[in-house]
Amino acid sequence: MRVACTAIGNKGLSLSSQEAEPRKVIPIVADEAQGELVSLYAAHQKIYPRSVSGVFSNWRWAMVWLTQLIFYGLPWLEWGQRQAVLFDLGARRFYIFGLVLYPQDFIYLTGLMVISALSLFLFTAVAGRLWCGYACPQTVYTEIFLWIEKKVEGDRTARMRRDSQGWSPERALRKGAKHLIWIAVALWTGFTFVGYFTPIKELAGEFVQMSLGPWETFWTFFYGFATYGNAGFMREQVCKHMCPYARFQSAMFDKDTLIVTYDTRRGEPRGARSRKADPQALKLGACVDCSLCVQVCPTGIDIRKGLQYECIGCGACVDVCDTVMDRMGYARGLVKYSTDNAIKQGWTPAQTLRHVLRPRVLIYSSILGAIVLAMLVSLSLRTPFKVDVVRDRGVMARIVEGGRIENVYRLQIMNATETAQHYKLAVSGLPGLALAAENTVLVESTQARWVAVRVQLPAEGAVPGSHTIRFEIDALDGAGHLTEKSVFLVPR
Ligand code: SF4
Ligand code: SF4
Repeated sequence: MRVACTAIGNKGLSLSSQEAEPRKVIPIVADEAQGELVSLYAAHQKIYPRSVSGVFSNWRWAMVWLTQLIFYGLPWLEWGQRQAVLFDLGARRFYIFGLVLYPQDFIYLTGLMVISALSLFLFTAVAGRLWCGYACPQTVYTEIFLWIEKKVEGDRTARMRRDSQGWSPERALRKGAKHLIWIAVALWTGFTFVGYFTPIKELAGEFVQMSLGPWETFWTFFYGFATYGNAGFMREQVCKHMCPYARFQSAMFDKDTLIVTYDTRRGEPRGARSRKADPQALKLGACVDCSLCVQVCPTGIDIRKGLQYECIGCGACVDVCDTVMDRMGYARGLVKYSTDNAIKQGWTPAQTLRHVLRPRVLIYSSILGAIVLAMLVSLSLRTPFKVDVVRDRGVMARIVEGGRIENVYRLQIMNATETAQHYKLAVSGLPGLALAAENTVLVESTQARWVAVRVQLPAEGAVPGSHTIRFEIDALDGAGHLTEKSVFLVPR
């Protein structure tokens, strides 16, 4: 079949065939009536979340208190003569209560990161975005900033009304007061953050005397600015557009993951009615279409449209809907934490929870438990000092007095305790191998010391070539023994 183009006009391109087929017209110019321009840019709609109270709101506030008491309080805690938790980057020492860690202990940081990642996987598989809804700093600081906003500017309705009107002295005063308090909280947060890396009492003195160093000033203001911007202005935008976790968390969901859901079978058809009305007579479901679940949502979504990636699983809509159900005299749980399977199969809470313990959860839990156990065992067996052996490149093997063969090494001994320690050095691996000088070294608390060590071998003690030897180091004032391998060269 041959097809030829017969006409191209501003109405379209017409095609015909030489055989007796009906003419086809494929329009290439949009009809003017359908040619409305659609902007791909949607202007940001400010969200005014309504405050809410209930079980999940109480949990969220409990987490706000817990995380912030730890964050703001920990740097002020003393451990002996020093700050209990201090990451001293300048001295390359990390103090965590009784532990003194060196950069060589990086493996523990790696372990901590693996544990955090696995915990996130586990909690997400069990209960969706539990982290986002209750413990994420973005949620926690937004909650604090919203609370300040409510105290200064009033609840949702008052804020919306005032924002829709023009500027007035009262509005300017309230906004100004709110921003001043926000800035104070943000700066205190930045200051506390820096207090984990610089002794916080010294930092406080410098802050008061306005003599902070350039790095401390930069990080205090940078962290403070990020807190002010993210919790005061960006809010749900961070969760929706910036947070990478929001993007991949759905990969960890399955049909037995607890999520915030609207029970469509119970709720629909939705509609307003009086408290006394019989919903069955009106052929209505339990949803009274009050829109309170949308008004309390910090990301401004309607959970009745199903699971959406914007939902951070905070449970605010659950709390408010339960209040509505109580007021209407209906059973609670129209919006609730449930699973896809439980909603579809009508499982009871006990049946739902039984299905939560599925293979994926058990595998995550076992791996997590094994890594935590390994970390704890490794930390408890950790030798409280470290030794690095470096052959002195400037002094190769040489013959010294009495025809003995001598090699020189440099040993770095790191004392990871908070008292001065004596270490006894010995060497083994070849017959007659011995240290040429005094073999006890003193290292001050939490310090590292380089020592030059001469090792001698009797003439004819070994054939020419390189031989593996071992340095044996014993802590005399505390417990601990380390063995470090090196090489001894015998010249031809
Ligand atoms: S709060 Fe409950 S009753 Fe009100 S609209 Fe939302 S789902 Fe329906
Ligand atoms: S839909 Fe409900 S649980 Fe999800 S973010 Fe909004 S209020 Fe929170």
